[in-house]
Amino acid sequence: MNAFYFCYFPALLHPGWTMAFDALAERELESLLEDKVDKSKDPNPLICAACGERITSIRERVEMNGTHSHTFTNPHGFTFDIGCFRSAPGCKPLGEATQAWTWFRGYAWRMAVCGGCGAHLGWGYEPAPADADARGFFGLILDRLSRTA
Ligand SMILES: [Zn+2]
Repeated sequence: MNAFYFCYFPALLHPGWTMAFDALAERELESLLEDKVDKSKDPNPLICAACGERITSIRERVEMNGTHSHTFTNPHGFTFDIGCFRSAPGCKPLGEATQAWTWFRGYAWRMAVCGGCGAHLGWGYEPAPADADARGFFGLILDRLSRTA
């Protein structure tokens, strides 16, 4: 070890330590805050039954065509019991929206998968054509959601 290295070694290393420590502390703080906010805001989360990712909340339930839950059969003969939710931040929409075979007249759909594990959880619906007054929603397959891990 030469003198130059010896002198500067601590200075080179310390900023790294500090940054690593700060990043960790920040993450911890964020997750603590998130927990606190989520718990106070939402006592009834709905999670992905496969991986536990937080998907939506019981209080995000909405009625479409007069009812929250619907049973539909797709053109392949698969039947789904779905519930309608105003939002589903844990879902990731996939592909282009289409009105083909839509279960909700006036809405185009695209697949919605779990943002955590990619499991197919249902469909995201958006007004079609885009209507400033109408809001999109999610139709989620109820037995793929769970209240607790
Ligand atoms: Zn999942």
